Amino acid sequence: MSLGKNFRLPLDCRPVRYSAHLAPDVAKGAFEGRMELEVRLDAPRREIHLHAVGLTVARARARVQDRALKATFSADAESETVTLRFEEELPRGGVILDLAWSGKFSPGLRGLYRAGPLAVTQFEAADARRVFPCFDEPAFKARWVLTVVGIPDGVVALSNGVPIKDQKEPDGGRTVQFAETPPLSSYLIALCIGDLASSPEQKARAYPVRTWAVPQKRELTAFGQEVALAVLPLLEDYFGQPYAYGKVDQVGVPDFEAGAMENAACITYREVALLLDPKTAPLNVQKRVAEVITHELSHQWFGNLVTMVWWDDLWLNEAFATWMAYKIVDQWRPQWRVWMDFEVGKGAALHLDALKSSHPIRAEIHNAEEAGESFDAITYEKGGAILRMIEGYLGQEKFREGIRLYMRRHKEANATADDLWAALAESSGQPILELANGWIRQTGYPLVSISEEGGKLRIRQRRFFSDPEAAPEPTLWLAPLLLRIDGRERRVLLRSAEETVDPGGSFGWVLGNAGASGFYRTAYDDELLHRLIRALPELRPEERMALVSDQWALVRANAAKLEGFVDLLAALETEEDHSVLDEVVGRLSYLEHRVVSEASRGALHSFVGRLFQRAATDLGWDPRAGESDERRLRRSAVQRALALVARDPAAVADATARYQRHVARHPHAVDPNLLDVVVAAAARTADEKRFDELRELARTELDPAAKRRYLHALAMVEDPKLVPRSVDLALDAFVQMQDFASYLGTLLANRAARETAWRLIRLRWEDVRKKGDSPMILRRLVEALGNLTERRHLEEVEKFLASHELTAARQAVAQTLERLRADVALRERLQPELDAALQKK
Ligand SMILES: [Zn+2]
Repeated sequence: MSLGKNFRLPLDCRPVRYSAHLAPDVAKGAFEGRMELEVRLDAPRREIHLHAVGLTVARARARVQDRALKATFSADAESETVTLRFEEELPRGGVILDLAWSGKFSPGLRGLYRAGPLAVTQFEAADARRVFPCFDEPAFKARWVLTVVGIPDGVVALSNGVPIKDQKEPDGGRTVQFAETPPLSSYLIALCIGDLASSPEQKARAYPVRTWAVPQKRELTAFGQEVALAVLPLLEDYFGQPYAYGKVDQVGVPDFEAGAMENAACITYREVALLLDPKTAPLNVQKRVAEVITHELSHQWFGNLVTMVWWDDLWLNEAFATWMAYKIVDQWRPQWRVWMDFEVGKGAALHLDALKSSHPIRAEIHNAEEAGESFDAITYEKGGAILRMIEGYLGQEKFREGIRLYMRRHKEANATADDLWAALAESSGQPILELANGWIRQTGYPLVSISEEGGKLRIRQRRFFSDPEAAPEPTLWLAPLLLRIDGRERRVLLRSAEETVDPGGSFGWVLGNAGASGFYRTAYDDELLHRLIRALPELRPEERMALVSDQWALVRANAAKLEGFVDLLAALETEEDHSVLDEVVGRLSYLEHRVVSEASRGALHSFVGRLFQRAATDLGWDPRAGESDERRLRRSAVQRALALVARDPAAVADATARYQRHVARHPHAVDPNLLDVVVAAAARTADEKRFDELRELARTELDPAAKRRYLHALAMVEDPKLVPRSVDLALDAFVQMQDFASYLGTLLANRAARETAWRLIRLRWEDVRKKGDSPMILRRLVEALGNLTERRHLEEVEKFLASHELTAARQAVAQTLERLRADVALRERLQPELDAALQKK
């Protein structure tokens, strides 16, 4: 009888210490293991359940005091467990299990797998069970002593502990034993074996830090090393707890499913999230690498030292690391203004969370597969934004005191959301539970509408939906609002559906989300909106950005007119902040990509061209000596608008000329911040010769961001003769598994390649499925279908997804379909409005 998919291990039998030997045969893609696993029983037991998938158990027995007890064992595929049945009952207390097993490398990017020349592990959420029989749930923390057998000479082996023994074996190969770890959940155990080279070892306070890559990319490790050394002391100071794991290894892995993985002291990264050449990396790539590294390092406390009890609190890990990364990077490099980048992620979360198919931050999770689906913008970005909002409400000092208390109280153990709220309530003296639970347990967020009635402000809240047809919902939030009235800040705790606020006399304008620090959208009555647009220069950049984002969301929800939105964009013609410009260009790009009719496309191009022409003339293409980053990034936004959205022929020609000089390796041919625009423009107009050139660049380039840029450029070609080649590459080994979904997504967003790529996905689904054989890649593949634009596409996607069951991507399927339906309906509704608005421009 099966234990069922939702089976959870009983809590009366817990692991204490794993002492495991693993002998991987990288060439054969197989391994053998044996271990002594010390467990504690709170009650006598005849049976012990361990997680295991694809492992063949060869031996299982128990040692109790000096007696050896034999066990029979049986595997259960559905619960992914093996059950050991002992010949007699095991007594309460300590028992040593003695196990031997064998298994195979995983075909996808999880368990133990081959990543180019390396053998690496990826265990979160629940794939440690593909390598070790173990208690593979986060609540079961235990110490691990790992020994790896049969490592060839000259090959590096890294794990969570430092190597304490490295000896040659008489029959060839080496045995490396790693030091015992502090208590860790199984998903944090890691192993990396292969030809790796590191930056020179340096110390962050008392412990060594190294950054690793395959040897030809060793030069690209310096920046990641610098970030880690800078932010580790800042994290120790924030948490008031020293780093717990003795050393830090950061490893760039050549094929990797997620962005990075916070394994204790052995952090693995997608190469593009760790390695870069500071001479050629655009600022946004540098910021992204610093943010990911800081995210992973903050997990060493939030996640590793204090771990969620179960996956329903995954947000405790991810929301916290997301928020903390921005906080600490902002402390390290305030001139980067990374909170503006945080706004971009928050915008994506607001968009996702306006769907009926969204989910609460703290979601009910029944099994490992569902846990895997929780790694999304709600858990990360919305969670991070809610923490930021709560920090704003309690004040930075009280919030930090609460976090320190939580760390002290639960270190080396597990905790739940309520433990965090209890610590924050204690440190602040504020009843935080009701407020916090409203935001983490309810799906969605409020639309806060502000109107002026008889000299008073009337403030209303209701759940915001993108879908204009969605039935209203009675959900309410205890919402800490920060208003700004003519530059004066005013806190309001909104408790009910509607409240009246006295503005304290006559006023010019009111802003409903000062500092954009709240996770809600704001709507204004016509008069208040007018006054706010006149006051645009008095708002902070993040507030202008939020205004654009909110007004666009209201247009989508059919709660505001497109024409008013186009007027708002036009009012931002003199905008100088690059993040606000990026937001504007993003919305224009959406209109160009998804909404405009063929008949009006030319008119939209001219509108965008006129909007940015003055700025483009002022900025040109080439930076002056000593120019600020801000001006460089502004140039990048403006030239993107002209060359890629407006398709202005002069801008495309300028971009292409710079592409040619760049690939001919002229020094300083192009500012790195313009490379994305320059390469994309050149790719769209590529002929066969340039296609081959891009392909060769994508193959040989060492810098991961540059390589990815060339790779995606291949999916942007528009020459009908090249499109089939570009589409065929998707299934070629040339496109690695980690890049597969984003490559297909780029093809589906390319109007010249869309039909061919969509046909490939349908006709060769078995091959697509095989290449996307990792749950996260599969979800990204489903999401990529959202790049299609027309009603007939929607109907085809609906039919296709209905006839292909994708159990590991149920949520992605529901969200993608809802989004695509909304986008298609929006296209049909807005097309005439946009045509009319453009005629007046
Ligand atoms: Zn994380």
